Amino acid sequence: MDHNATTPVHPEVVDAMIPFLREEWGNPSSIHWAGRSPRKAIEDAREKVADILKAEPSEMIFTSCGSEGNNFAIKGVLETKKGKGNHIITSKVEHPSVLGTCKYLSKVGYDVTFLDVDSDGMLDLNQLKDAITPETVLITIMFGNNETGVIFPIKEIGEIAREQKVTFHTDAVQGVGKVPIGVKDLNLDILTLSGHKLYAPKGVGAVYVKKGVRVQPLLHGGHQERNRRAGTEDVAGIVALGKACEITTRDMERETEHLLKLRSKLEKGLMERIPYLKVNGHPERRIPNTSNIGFDYVEGESILLNLDMKGVAASSGSACTSGTLEPSHVLVAMGISLEKSHGSVRFSLGRGNTEEDVDYVLEIMPPLVERLRSMSPLYSAATGKGVDLNFDTISKH
Ligand SMILES: *Cc1c(COP(=O)(O)O)cnc(C)c1O
Repeated sequence: MDHNATTPVHPEVVDAMIPFLREEWGNPSSIHWAGRSPRKAIEDAREKVADILKAEPSEMIFTSCGSEGNNFAIKGVLETKKGKGNHIITSKVEHPSVLGTCKYLSKVGYDVTFLDVDSDGMLDLNQLKDAITPETVLITIMFGNNETGVIFPIKEIGEIAREQKVTFHTDAVQGVGKVPIGVKDLNLDILTLSGHKLYAPKGVGAVYVKKGVRVQPLLHGGHQERNRRAGTEDVAGIVALGKACEITTRDMERETEHLLKLRSKLEKGLMERIPYLKVNGHPERRIPNTSNIGFDYVEGESILLNLDMKGVAASSGSACTSGTLEPSHVLVAMGISLEKSHGSVRFSLGRGNTEEDVDYVLEIMPPLVERLRSMSPLYSAATGKGVDLNFDTISKH
């Protein structure tokens, strides 16, 4: 139940890749026999990836990951706008690959506005409009949030950007494959996607760049990807991404129904069985697979460790990367207290999850949470349940 972190590679995707690792190993830029089949495979994949976004194949550029795509989009647009303005607008809840890039740019002289979100994790479009100045050259706002699943009003943002003649990029890594996305309907200039969040392997992604929009390459060198991304193509990875997009286009409707059913069973079930919890994020405007739940009076990390011991993989809102427990920047931006944000758990469902999986989580969670809470002085102080700690004794030491 941690599919927003990564997804298992679909067996059909593995099958599609294998020939390009075993026999069809040629360099797609070679004009001799060995290059022909890999070249054709890349162009076939490009069509499939374009299809899922209702874009033209010539508008798709393959990258090595979502993070590269976001760096390319943001830095690449700014390069073409040198002298025209130095202001970027983004939000406080972006993925680190966007936030980190924007923070870096603010250090090297760019002016960056980080838009707020409300307690539902939603943007205020008036704040966005007010933030635009004659210096604004780029708006980069994510499609769906990886921690809460909250979906931003991308079409409306695109309209505002278009009216103001500002380039608009969206990080749609958590949206592509989960909800239908048409780049033309959404008034998008640039969009990033990543393979490993949609059942392709890690290390491949793509960027949509609308015809006529200029983006400078991040990697200079050979003429690959029509001079927009140098480096010999990862043929097997690109084939995999194409296959994954084809499967997604084929199965999305059924998968969405499956995910919504499981998620609502999970959320309802937890709410019925466990007191003092809250689903974080907008109740309706969410990616169908994602559920971020705040459990009061308990550490999310402790829940995760206990779930892990029972074979359940989930994730916390907090990024525990360096071993220090930093609260989630997304939940903090939503105005959720540090204490409560530490008690949050993200369940992100996927293709392979079943009703039985949800039943199992619903069975093990109530006693697990109750046991952890019973050790919390805050819980006993607030509810009269759990251990009765003697605060006088503690403060003397
Ligand atoms: C995973 C993710 C990325 C980064 O993609 P990688 O391929 O892992 O670099 C970017 N944005 C969002 C919203 C993500 O969830």
